[in-house]
Amino acid sequence: MTAEKTATLEELKAALLESYREEFPNDEPTICAFAPGRVNLIGEHVDYNDGFVFPMAIPVGTMIVGKALNEPTTTKCYVRTLSKDVGEQKSIEIDLANELAPIKSPKWANYVLGVLAHFLERVKPSKKQPFRILIATSVPIGGGLSSSASVEVAMCTFLELLYGNSLSSNQQLSKVDKALLCCKAEQTYANVPCGIMDQYTSCLAKADHALLIDCRDNTSQYIPMINKNVCVLVTNSNVKHELGAGTYAERVHNCQVAANLLGHKKLREVTSLKELENARDKMSPTTYKRARHAITEIQRTEIAAEALSKNDYAEFGRLMYESHQSLRDDFEVSCEELDQLVELARSVDGVYGSRMTGGGFGGCTVTLVAKSSVGKCIETMKNGYKEKCQQFHPRNDSDDDDTQIQICFSYLSSSKFPLQI
Ligand code: ADP
Ligand code: MG
Repeated sequence: MTAEKTATLEELKAALLESYREEFPNDEPTICAFAPGRVNLIGEHVDYNDGFVFPMAIPVGTMIVGKALNEPTTTKCYVRTLSKDVGEQKSIEIDLANELAPIKSPKWANYVLGVLAHFLERVKPSKKQPFRILIATSVPIGGGLSSSASVEVAMCTFLELLYGNSLSSNQQLSKVDKALLCCKAEQTYANVPCGIMDQYTSCLAKADHALLIDCRDNTSQYIPMINKNVCVLVTNSNVKHELGAGTYAERVHNCQVAANLLGHKKLREVTSLKELENARDKMSPTTYKRARHAITEIQRTEIAAEALSKNDYAEFGRLMYESHQSLRDDFEVSCEELDQLVELARSVDGVYGSRMTGGGFGGCTVTLVAKSSVGKCIETMKNGYKEKCQQFHPRNDSDDDDTQIQICFSYLSSSKFPLQI
């Protein structure tokens, strides 16, 4: 079993330049945009409830290289992804002379199209600028580390650079507006009823800080993470259960039903669990459990951010375990693999806390661990998971892609990775 190597930004750029030059000999891209993925430390499935979330950017992300096409008669753009994991069709053509509607296939193109369409709402029709781009990512796709938002935000950054000086100051986007535009693109073009967390983090995060986001008014606070003795460990289960499809929208719906029954716009408005208890007989047991997760998770997240700002890792870790339990039992978005990874981490001395992160049904866990215990933690998780995961996914021993676990980890003090290059 090997831990899959995660490409550095330099490697991503080199791969993109090589592909570009191969496909377009005698030509060079002039623009390079990058946007990071993120890991959510705590505050899961609460952004769409107007709650608090507490993510940080991670040193993997999506990069786009490309250039403007200035042939006078061309209205066509060219987009190609280098990703192996998005299906057969890797490139599309977009004609700016046509309406930019979502397309049935390839699905990945909608993440690009959505951002382009919403961005162009700010641009005069006569100023529409054709381009060609290549896209590459080091974020595991569908792993809960937000490859989708990093594609959207990188695309939006590319367009900002493409249009550059030709945008007047009132056409320019603030970072929060940019996050809102990308979020809207995912909702309207990829048809995912997502909250603002992923795009917000990709646009606003900075190195050595986590970001406490209040999703009610889209304000945020940077919490420094500069203790060299503590690590955030991100562990990929490398599974994605089909069960996950559609259940995200279902959870969003459950929470909205609960909020409405309680007479609120969003569950954030619920001030105590008592309020929920008092209305328990008005709702189905499932709606009750979903609401209980959202309400307690919003409270936990605020307390956790406070704990982290005081370097109280024990308290932060305790809340991470509680969060996982709530996601597993009340929100029912975990799976055996994620539960196993959390339990394996918990068995290691020096681990403060661990939980699933992202939408669930596979993807990653996040663990807060003393730096001196990281090696032990990785080893325990790898070996234990390999043993346990045989029960979930019998695998052929000769399968050389036996990467049931992939570790990419970021020290809290993970210094300056550029958010844009
Ligand atoms: P996550 O954001 O957790 O990685 P999502 O299901 O939200 O998972 O988003 C994954 C989707 O985003 C992919 O299926 C694909 O459509 C799109 N996507 C992500 N990265 C790329 C990429 N490099 N090129 C093209 N599409 C991508
Ligand atoms: Mg996503």
